[in-house]
Amino acid sequence: MSRERLSDTGRQLLHDFPALAKLRKLDRSNIDNVIALVDNCAAFNREHAEPVALELDERIGRDTDYFDWDLAREAGYHRLFSLVIPEVVGGLAGKYMLTAGYLAFEELCSCCAGIGNMIAATALGISPMITPGGLAYWDTILREIMEGEKTGKPVLMAYAITEPSAGTDVEEPDFLARARINMEAKKVKGGYLLNGRKVFISGGREAKYLTVCAATERDRPLDTWSLFMVEREREGVSVPRVERKMGQRACHAAELLFEDVFIPDANLLGQEGDGMATGILSIMSASRGAVGGVGSGIARGAFRHFLAWAREAKNGRKPIGEQRIQMALADMQSAVQQSRGLCLSHGLAGDEVFGALMINPLVKGLFSLPRAVRLSRPYRSFLHSSAGRVFTGQMLRVLVDEDELTHILSLASLAKFSATDKAVWVASRALELMGTDDSVHRRWVEKNFRDAKLTQIYEGTNQLNRLTHYLIELAGTLKVELPRPLERVGRD
Ligand SMILES: Cc1cc2nc3c(=O)[nH]c(=O)nc-3n(C[C@H](O)[C@H](O)[C@H](O)COP(=O)(O)OP(=O)(O)OC[C@H]3O[C@@H](n4cnc5c(N)ncnc54)[C@H](O)[C@@H]3O)c2cc1C
Repeated sequence: MSRERLSDTGRQLLHDFPALAKLRKLDRSNIDNVIALVDNCAAFNREHAEPVALELDERIGRDTDYFDWDLAREAGYHRLFSLVIPEVVGGLAGKYMLTAGYLAFEELCSCCAGIGNMIAATALGISPMITPGGLAYWDTILREIMEGEKTGKPVLMAYAITEPSAGTDVEEPDFLARARINMEAKKVKGGYLLNGRKVFISGGREAKYLTVCAATERDRPLDTWSLFMVEREREGVSVPRVERKMGQRACHAAELLFEDVFIPDANLLGQEGDGMATGILSIMSASRGAVGGVGSGIARGAFRHFLAWAREAKNGRKPIGEQRIQMALADMQSAVQQSRGLCLSHGLAGDEVFGALMINPLVKGLFSLPRAVRLSRPYRSFLHSSAGRVFTGQMLRVLVDEDELTHILSLASLAKFSATDKAVWVASRALELMGTDDSVHRRWVEKNFRDAKLTQIYEGTNQLNRLTHYLIELAGTLKVELPRPLERVGRD
């Protein structure tokens, strides 16, 4: 694609991000793939999200139970549930996985952050599976998700970490060590018995599969925090309620109850006790940048609607003719571009680790084995065995540099709290200036404001993200330490 033949979205991207334009000169086909992906999100917005977003938000405000499966189906046809599925198994995540993910979520959320979050919830649920501990699921669940996209039967996922008495506390090692944990995954013969509650789980009711973090010993949460794959339909899993949300309503937040839920050993992702390192810190070092993108997308949306409003005549005069409006527009654009710069920096830095993993020869080598071999009983038994868990854990330690990952986590936290705070600021500034006007643009900005507020809470509250950034960059006391599988003996 020459620059001239790019779509409007592509040209705008290269205009807004000179660094991306420069990178395209060096790595044309990969960057064109990123642009094509964002184009696809823009097409989804135009054709499916924009026409329904305002009504959907109002409808779910009245009827919290409603979920728009048609929209999920259309998202599937656009392959939006494959954004973080590795290319080696047929997904869209390649060399620029984080950059593309950030730009995709920004584009989606520039229209509707509720619909964007419905898609992001599945991406987050998938994330623990794309760590080497989840290799066994690449040929099964990840393929099922892609098959569901094609056939119009969306297979959704969710990621459950928050508990009624521990939200912030489960996202930082020192806090988790002292947290009051409600849920336990008790070791029993052949597997684990799950008991307890998870709350505010995005997409938790609609998900077919859940990735769940739980302690195997409640009084030693940090040392025993572990990751599990749980089928939503498994006996003992129920959804007592979904929340009445102020924003992002197209994606439900559900409470999940686990009552004597038996899961086999094979459903443990990685090794027992890996949860904080691989389940929280590694995943958040990727996903917080994407949530920054949710924020910059909402800010872009609010800015766009405010600009359109300012250009319309009110009582014979256009607000854009006034200097106070012109200055406000400049301030808003400055906020949007600052957010985007931080998110892009995180994406590009993060791709040195995450994107590199997607195209690593070792990973590619494993998936060049014939599929029949990868699905064979001995191969799968090996991946689920304690030797297999040690092998994949070691693989992670060989492929990922802890210092680099720690730096990426601090960039992710910075991008997340900055972009989401700015989203709230841009939407609220626009609302103040629009006053009581009843134009459709004001309705969008009012929704942007409600949607933005929630981004300050999830993926670690902005207070926690400030602390994480401080502890890494300024105090130097927080470091991501990957599991050391050889030091531990697994249980088979
Ligand atoms: C829309 C939405 C979607 C969500 N989706 C998911 C999901 O998919 N999966 C999931 O597992 N969870 C999800 N969550 C939960 C979210 O991650 C938690 O709400 C968040 O971590 C905060 O936890 P909490 O609500 O228990 O608040 P608390 O941890 O009780 O915090 C309350 C306030 O105290 C502050 N605070 C707490 N401890 C400290 C401290 N030590 N120092 C400084 N300040 C502190 C917090 O920053 C916050 O302002 C979602 C939440 C929302 C709102």
